[in-house]
Amino acid sequence: MNSVEAFLTSDEEKMIVESIKNAEKNTSGEVRVHIEKSTLKHPLERAQEVFYNLNMQNTKQRNGVLLYVATNTKQFAIIGDEGINKLVTESFWEFEKRLITHYFSIGKNAKALIDGIQLIGEKLKMYFPYEKDDTDELSNEISKG
Ligand code: CA
Ligand code: CA
Repeated sequence: MNSVEAFLTSDEEKMIVESIKNAEKNTSGEVRVHIEKSTLKHPLERAQEVFYNLNMQNTKQRNGVLLYVATNTKQFAIIGDEGINKLVTESFWEFEKRLITHYFSIGKNAKALIDGIQLIGEKLKMYFPYEKDDTDELSNEISKG
């Protein structure tokens, strides 16, 4: 079993995809999760690279958010596109990071991501409410490196 599979069961992966779908029912913003075994780069730098590899900058309102995780070290990074970064304060991201770090540290990996996604969804909803003509601009599936 490689470490990405050890990190989340397939049922947990499904729950995470569901939580992305639920979050996006309330907002035009888009959330994606990318999980890979390891990176030699700083997680934030690697997250930025993944963000562009997944074309996450191609949303109409520039409101995509990526949750990046390297499973070997449980390092992670969260990055929002410029539309959301203009509006969300640093303290929100800090709170989000503390929440995820806490659940990772007690081995609740799925809960870390699900609660993290829910929190991002609530934040996105404040600034980018769901619109009638909303489309799913970015896939809800977990991206794996
Ligand atoms: Ca959408
Ligand atoms: Ca989506």
